[in-house]
Amino acid sequence: MNREVISTVSGLPFAYNLDLDVTRLVDGDGSNVDSEIIQGHLIYSFVVHHPTIFVELNAQDMIISNSKLLNLSGEIIAAEENSEIKVQNNENTNTYLFTFESTLPEEELKLELDFTYKLKNSPIGHYGSYQGGKRMCSTKFEPTFARLAFPCVDQPNSKAIFTIQILHTCDKIAVSIMPVQSMNTGLGEEGKWTKTIFQQTPKLSTYIVAWVVGEFEYIEGFYESVPIRIYTEKGMKLQALYSLTLVYKAIQILTEYTQIPIPLPKIDLIVVPKLKAGAMENWGLQTLLIDYQSSYSEKFGIANTIFHEFAHYWFGNFVTMVWWNELYLNEGFAVFFASYVQDKLQSNQDIWNISFNLLHLNPALEFDTQEDETHPIICPIVQAKDDDSIFDNISYSKAGVIIKMFHDKIGEENFKKGIRNYLQKHQYGNATTAVLQEALIEASGMQDLPLKMKSWLEKMKEKEDQIQIDEDKQTIWWIPITVIVKWEGINEVNYINIELEQKQMELQIIPPDPDKKLLWIKLNQDQKGYYRK
Ligand SMILES: [Zn+2]
Repeated sequence: MNREVISTVSGLPFAYNLDLDVTRLVDGDGSNVDSEIIQGHLIYSFVVHHPTIFVELNAQDMIISNSKLLNLSGEIIAAEENSEIKVQNNENTNTYLFTFESTLPEEELKLELDFTYKLKNSPIGHYGSYQGGKRMCSTKFEPTFARLAFPCVDQPNSKAIFTIQILHTCDKIAVSIMPVQSMNTGLGEEGKWTKTIFQQTPKLSTYIVAWVVGEFEYIEGFYESVPIRIYTEKGMKLQALYSLTLVYKAIQILTEYTQIPIPLPKIDLIVVPKLKAGAMENWGLQTLLIDYQSSYSEKFGIANTIFHEFAHYWFGNFVTMVWWNELYLNEGFAVFFASYVQDKLQSNQDIWNISFNLLHLNPALEFDTQEDETHPIICPIVQAKDDDSIFDNISYSKAGVIIKMFHDKIGEENFKKGIRNYLQKHQYGNATTAVLQEALIEASGMQDLPLKMKSWLEKMKEKEDQIQIDEDKQTIWWIPITVIVKWEGINEVNYINIELEQKQMELQIIPPDPDKKLLWIKLNQDQKGYYRK
């Protein structure tokens, strides 16, 4: 089954040079949004591996024109205006197919083109919003909305480097993944435009590309030499001080854990007025939707969100799942590490046993009972456009709980060692469950780890809540159980750790003294296993 909409067999993207003109944003009450046309120029660089006459790109709700094919030295090989390139749009697959007259040479090539579209108002793709009557624009590309903003191979396994430049009016600033390389001001007939050119990115997936253009101010701190900025609307920057300290702490804990320094030269967070979710982990430019006047409990939520998004710097952005069916490799780890960071910072609050269970275990168990909604953690997805539905409590919370369960089984030090191997080995690339397991086995020696994980990742919840389950007469689940035993006349309780790996198991509980009476037995201490007792 070919799950890729765009096959990467013939050619692979390696760079995008993206030039955007966002000078037509209109301040006011929204009555002129129809005139907000975005114009862009793209140089898409790719390598041809197998003979082909086609190049295919994702693009949706835009007009593409003036395409040209160039070789590495810049010579034009074919041009649309000379009828040497046929361009076809397939609205069902959101793709444009470029067909050439002759087979493409097996080398690095560049496809240059112009594109234009109307700025969106709903918060997907490249969209506009207002801050006190002032117009701004920002992006939200996960999972498949980059194709609404520029033509690209919009798939997580097609990583490439990006060079972005944005032409905007001088009253606004532009921010993106990387630091600004240069700014040219006084452009345009009236000298009212600025071109902001950003440094080239490392390799990344299209869904974490981002830019924001608007009127902002920021507060700044540093982690070692890496600048951390939080951008807010004007007059609000001091409200972001709390978030700045959280970012600093998250970086400190996660760089120590992963032993991988922040993979980008700067960190920006930007508070935007409109976002589809509470936050988005765009690399180098997290977008956040927060209320500045937050209560204590809301601040706890903000902290968890910021830690979650920072975990993505390594889990998702630095190492990315090959395909959306293993979204848990991003989200499950972000859920796990958000609580890991919180636990390190607030060790007196029993984060794992209280807030982790409240935030994740209970909602996941509840969601898992909805037979129309639930699915295995690794779920089959055929096409990228089907992916939006899996951003749910299974891919996030349940995955986080299962990762915690295996973390406890493997042990903190071996788990950490395995995670470091995994990140090192697949940096700036893509990963699967198999390579994660390889790294964890190498660190722990647990050869049967894939077998133990298999049913938790690939099977759905059973219909009956039972501790021992046999779904299809063959599936035997690996179930860790902590048993607590209380004897009469003894203050301390006894802990017994068992692992159920067969249909039935007998547990003999021997009294410390033949006269002692058994008072009670409790299973699944602190709900460390993903089941109800
Ligand atoms: Zn996330």
